[in-house]
Amino acid sequence: MATAQEIVGKHTADAPVNIEGLVEDLGVELVRKADLHPLIAGQIECIEPNRFRISVNKNDHYYRRRFTTAHELAHFLLHRNLIARGVDDTKAYRSLDIGNFNNQNITREHEVEANRFASRVLMPKDLVRKYHGEYAGDITLLAKKFQVSEEAMGYRLQALGLA
Ligand SMILES: [Zn+2]
Repeated sequence: MATAQEIVGKHTADAPVNIEGLVEDLGVELVRKADLHPLIAGQIECIEPNRFRISVNKNDHYYRRRFTTAHELAHFLLHRNLIARGVDDTKAYRSLDIGNFNNQNITREHEVEANRFASRVLMPKDLVRKYHGEYAGDITLLAKKFQVSEEAMGYRLQALGLA
């Protein structure tokens, strides 16, 4: 059986990263366009012991939904023991008392960690460097290539010292 690392590698070999395929290959159910509270971007829930489902707000732009999917995947990979019944994320990626779960285990630091993971998985360092060269640093082209918001790409370029 492939390790999580190998599965991640397969889906992040080129841009845009196949975030949906990655989630599903890791054995997590994915509802790409879910009916959620208007202030909730996404959630991850435990549907039975060791079975998880990520749901993403159908009203969000596709690029936002990709980021949300990656953020929820981070909770699965990094914070699985804290998920309990589930975790909701607001549009600002905070676990608050709106939505379905009001999870108190997930702290601000966990959210920062999940956002950092999402940024890294959607915009792998080597690929960003490669296309940053090819596109002469054009952030609009880069954001389109990676299917992320220009804001998310801007943060990533800064983190990599390419801004
Ligand atoms: Zn979160």
